Amino acid sequence: MQERVWIHVPEIHQQELERWKEYLKYHTVDMELGRVAVYEFITNKTEDLNFKQFTKERNIRCIVSRREYSFTKAEKDQADILYLIIDGNGGDSTSDESLYYTCPTCMYEVRKVNRSRVRVDYKEVSKYDICISYLPNCEVVVSQKLIDLMVGEKISGYETTPIYQTGTDEVIPNFYQLLLNTGLGEAVAPTIVERGIRCVDCGFYTRNLIKSLLHYKKLESRSYDICYASDWYGDIYRNKYVGSRAIVISQKLYRIMKENKIRAFSVQPAAFIFMRDRES
Ligand SMILES: [Zn+2]
Repeated sequence: MQERVWIHVPEIHQQELERWKEYLKYHTVDMELGRVAVYEFITNKTEDLNFKQFTKERNIRCIVSRREYSFTKAEKDQADILYLIIDGNGGDSTSDESLYYTCPTCMYEVRKVNRSRVRVDYKEVSKYDICISYLPNCEVVVSQKLIDLMVGEKISGYETTPIYQTGTDEVIPNFYQLLLNTGLGEAVAPTIVERGIRCVDCGFYTRNLIKSLLHYKKLESRSYDICYASDWYGDIYRNKYVGSRAIVISQKLYRIMKENKIRAFSVQPAAFIFMRDRES
């Protein structure tokens, strides 16, 4: 695995950091630090380690603004579970049912897991075997080909429901909305998460941003081949929740999708963390 980071450093330190000028990529404004220079490194290489040590010794404030990961084929093929990234763009979706409900405790408009009778455009969804509608809707639509494979291979953790055509309300043949269960808890350490306040009623955080690879506690009792993680990632914006949930798949489903050339997805390995019972 290779991790690439973008580090914000106040511009006033740029002179001191002259040695690393080839790693200086651009300038921007940071909400906390003001005008910053942005350095890009591959972590744990000599230059990255020297930079960290130097800024630490000089008490130079640095903020990692972004992390990106790349993996070898072997790493993907060996991961127990994988974070599914749906690359197919399903376009806009609508439904007569709201995506939100107002939580009586925090009073924010927060998300339902699913809503009924979702409409999409056949012209968009038929380009892919798996696609996802625009944020914040994030409905997953799959092709007959993928469903046939999932049924044939006894993939667990999902249901399907018809999907309808925008405008005519007719059922779109050979495509389905995929409904998933929640099969994993919240992301746990060493996942880097920026969290705000959690509402005890609806469970939503005012802010819940994942900034690293995902790690989950292994739950022996429930193991689906495809599921949602329990936490939603995003934040409350203008009293409304904006974000989505991570979809995690098993190595078995990944292999089936890959071998059958399913269109429009990619994966990142996620990791299970084994914990003692009393910690769960
Ligand atoms: Zn609430």
